[in-house]
Amino acid sequence: MVAQRAREVEISGIRKMFESAPPRSINLGLGEPDFDPPAAVIDALCRAVREGRNHYGPSAGIPELREQLAERYRAKDPATSRDNVLVTGSGTEALMATALALYDPGDEVLVPNPGFVLYAPHARLSGAIPVPYSLLASGGFQPDLDELESLVTARTRAIVVNSPSNPTGAVFPKATVDRLCAFADRHELTIVSDEVYEEIVYDGPAVSFWGRSDRTVVVNSFSKMLATTGWRIGFVVAPRALAVEINKLHYHIMACPPTPAQVAVLAGLASSEPTARMVEEFRRRRELVVRTLNAIDGLTTVPPAGAFYAFPRFSWPVSATELAGALLARGLITTPGDAFGSLGASHLRLSFAASRDDLRRGLAILAELGRTLGAADRPAAPPVSGRGSGRRPASARRS
Ligand code: PLP
Repeated sequence: MVAQRAREVEISGIRKMFESAPPRSINLGLGEPDFDPPAAVIDALCRAVREGRNHYGPSAGIPELREQLAERYRAKDPATSRDNVLVTGSGTEALMATALALYDPGDEVLVPNPGFVLYAPHARLSGAIPVPYSLLASGGFQPDLDELESLVTARTRAIVVNSPSNPTGAVFPKATVDRLCAFADRHELTIVSDEVYEEIVYDGPAVSFWGRSDRTVVVNSFSKMLATTGWRIGFVVAPRALAVEINKLHYHIMACPPTPAQVAVLAGLASSEPTARMVEEFRRRRELVVRTLNAIDGLTTVPPAGAFYAFPRFSWPVSATELAGALLARGLITTPGDAFGSLGASHLRLSFAASRDDLRRGLAILAELGRTLGAADRPAAPPVSGRGSGRRPASARRS
């Protein structure tokens, strides 16, 4: 028999869809850049391996990478030093080590709903209780400070924020970041800020939480920035004392981050040009996706300001899982919105980290299915076979 934590933790809804897809499906489900890492980064990796940098390194990461990362964050807080920086084996591991270092059993942790699939399980795996706060399409997927105030109890320990957001694509303006910092300071909460999409923005820079409050832990990653998702390198920027504690947990998870990959991403920090080029292509795809989704009856889409996801709300008489299942049967992988929390119901996440051709073909499948479902939703039309169980009363359908 396995431990209760293993029994209770769920397989991510993103992975479930991906793993049950028929061969040659169009993949708008997974969140990873469809680009190669920059040539200089690939060369640096090969060189590092050939030159013998194949051994364990310091648990907190190689000093030269920590120093370069500290330099980047000095622009946000001049007092940042390498002691604030910890290199991890991915953003995922950074989030887990941070949760383990911060939360005690019974603590409450405010997590976004909808929000990335790790935050609530990581709180639970640490013995804490995730308390969802709402990000509503009607409010541009921005947090409601009044609601946050109402959720705070004597047990609230931290708030997890994610801007640019997966799955909504929303980016918090500076005023919201300031208000969230004041909120956290007022209640003595730690802010865990997941900034892995920091560089993937379309309407101006994302505002980092680093340097705005001394209660912030920033989690970041090279996965999206340098298109190195398979290399598993991320990092944490935290107050020094907390960085020491997170490092202890990180050591027990993975001893140290992979040495050759650290050498390689360090080379990637020398130029932001390849990331900027990738973002320009995402920007063109975003326009294609938003324009196409806006032309589909029954969908409402808040244009994403960052990351590479569209998160349209649908008014068709099916659940998000049924819709994603029907699309899968037609050869299109998407992620049902409720994989990201209850408020993701009636939403679908579409990744535009896919070629424009795949996007056109995938969105045509969605439009076609939407026409069928829209017709089925009209009282005179016959029901769509096999989808009766998803129907709700007409009054509940269009909110
Ligand atoms: N945070 C967010 C919001 C993400 O979307 C992802 C990956 O999709 C991660 C963290 C984890 O990234 P990685 O583990 O590849 O660094």
